[in-house]
Amino acid sequence: YAAKAQTQAVVWYSDAQEASRLSHLSLLSDLRSAVHNSELQMWLQPKVKLADMRTYGFEALVRWQHPQRGFISPAEFVPFAERTGYISAVTKWMLEHALQSLQNWKTSHPELSIAVNVSTNDLRDQSFPDRVRELLEHYDVNPNNLKLELTESGIMEDPSSAIPLLQTLRDTGIGLSIDDFGTGHSSLAYLQKLPVSELKIDRSFVINIDQLPSTQRLVKTIVEMGHGLHLSVIAEGIETEAERDTLRELGCDSMQGYFASKPLHGEALQKWLDQLPKTPG
Ligand code: C2E
Ligand code: MG
Ligand code: MG
Ligand code: MG
Repeated sequence: YAAKAQTQAVVWYSDAQEASRLSHLSLLSDLRSAVHNSELQMWLQPKVKLADMRTYGFEALVRWQHPQRGFISPAEFVPFAERTGYISAVTKWMLEHALQSLQNWKTSHPELSIAVNVSTNDLRDQSFPDRVRELLEHYDVNPNNLKLELTESGIMEDPSSAIPLLQTLRDTGIGLSIDDFGTGHSSLAYLQKLPVSELKIDRSFVINIDQLPSTQRLVKTIVEMGHGLHLSVIAEGIETEAERDTLRELGCDSMQGYFASKPLHGEALQKWLDQLPKTPG
């Protein structure tokens, strides 16, 4: 009886695998054309200082509006694009659009920055820093206005090749942030050697933090460690005022999350920019 159930389970599993393989094959060719057919969009989520809740920059988040399948979440297609090597085209597309926005803001909002997510694959490509530099020159954007977000696992996969690459980017003046901090295989020994400028505390530590004294102690330790290494510390995924207040008390520098704003695009983004104070000059 058990053996029969097991056989059925195996058959069902391989059918599902086949279906997912086929849908992934077509997804791959779709992703190739998506980059050229303007099916991708860049949404920008405000990053705000906790001291005064002023917007100092944005994180760029990719969105894919597929003509048949509708909206495909980056959580779904980014890992797939990484496995198939197509992520470098997505990264390039996002960098170009981020730099175009920064160029547009040069006179109205020269202080704003945009952070682009880079994947493990990008960090394996030794020509990546040169290509980023060429794009900065092409768009005539100050490197200080561009930030890159990378994950611990992306760096730790091959630290001896990733660290010099990060150093080159940092020497160019680009800000580097460790995304989803606290969830990867963080090694404190390496953290000290990483040429990064920001720690981004993962949302898993932020959820209900106002009610969780042990998480508060943990986050306080992360903030103090970050400041000890001269890094700025941001928390992601803040949804409530109570979470915001707690992170502010714990010494966190800035925040990102629905409590300040969801990712913005089009008119909503323009409205957000219009209500920001103009930088004189
Ligand atoms: P991430 O870099 O950690 O980005 C933060 C994610 O949390 C975003 O999801 C954002 O929309 C979401 N978020 C922001 N505030 C809140 C909040 O208050 N509550 C909740 N529940 N969620 C919040 P999104 O846009 O779906 O992106 C998911 C992940 O996909 C990103 O995580 C990042 O790892 C990846 N990703 C997105 N865009 C890109 C990209 O252009 N390139 C690469 N390589 N990865 C990307
Ligand atoms: Mg990110
Ligand atoms: Mg993150
Ligand atoms: Mg995250």
